Amino acid sequence: MEIKIAKFFGNARGALSFTFDDGCYKESTLKTIEIFKMVEAKTGVKIKATSAQTVGFLHEGLIDMWKIAIEEGYYDICSHSVDHCIGYNDETPEEKRLYDAEASRDKLSEIYGVTPICFAIPGGGESEGACQLLSRHYYANRVGEGPINDPDNLNFMRLTSFIGRLSYENVEPCVKFIDEIIACEGYGIQINHWLTDKEQDVHHAQRTHVFEDECLYAGKLASEGKLWIASLNDAVKYFYERNNAKITTQGDEITIKCDLDASIFNHPLTLVITADAEKSVKINGAPYELKVGENVITIEMR
Ligand SMILES: [Zn+2]
Repeated sequence: MEIKIAKFFGNARGALSFTFDDGCYKESTLKTIEIFKMVEAKTGVKIKATSAQTVGFLHEGLIDMWKIAIEEGYYDICSHSVDHCIGYNDETPEEKRLYDAEASRDKLSEIYGVTPICFAIPGGGESEGACQLLSRHYYANRVGEGPINDPDNLNFMRLTSFIGRLSYENVEPCVKFIDEIIACEGYGIQINHWLTDKEQDVHHAQRTHVFEDECLYAGKLASEGKLWIASLNDAVKYFYERNNAKITTQGDEITIKCDLDASIFNHPLTLVITADAEKSVKINGAPYELKVGENVITIEMR
């Protein structure tokens, strides 16, 4: 019997996170939720995205909308600084960086009652110093454009990302990105800003129909077990837990434990157990009947 924790939740072949920056595009956010609901109806896959929120851009009406989106499980949040401090680099004074890391985290946790565990640097421009400072306040940090992340060797403070753009007239570049994730068994993070139907908008925007097609494509792959669509937070939690969990076996009793902070790290883990004979086992006290070959079992961790 061989036991390992799957690289990705559900033993998928790759993982994808949708992130939406700034937290201030109300109509667009409501449209994304409509799209997520449509995908859920067509594929059975519920997409949860992450909103990277800039505290200074929030107001009461927006916060009420976000609270509902979070409650319904279509979004969670991470910090995108206090006032969209562009170029979070060595030229940004240390005290300003510290302020953005701490005050945004504290303010967002006061608003939503959940402390953000991830940061997304506004406008890229990260430096080693900035990433180090952020690592004292967050578990992961999303940086600018780059290749797909290697989930076996994640640099949590430099999670690179793919930017959805207005220049994409159709879904092809997004399909290519998702296909590459699966081909290399990688972890891809997409940055989006707002959705638009206008031909003339700024480059930050993403065409509504392109995003809709992309979500349907991703949802179909997820429904086939090939892709795990996770919020940035859920993916980070899974990867941390996977890296820290310890498995012990005593006879037919399998114990899987994770010593990380239980109030944060509570994502279910997927085990892949290869058995050479039919077998009854207990995993964390619960009984399972193993079949010959690969058994994929998801375990609640808390
Ligand atoms: Zn931004």
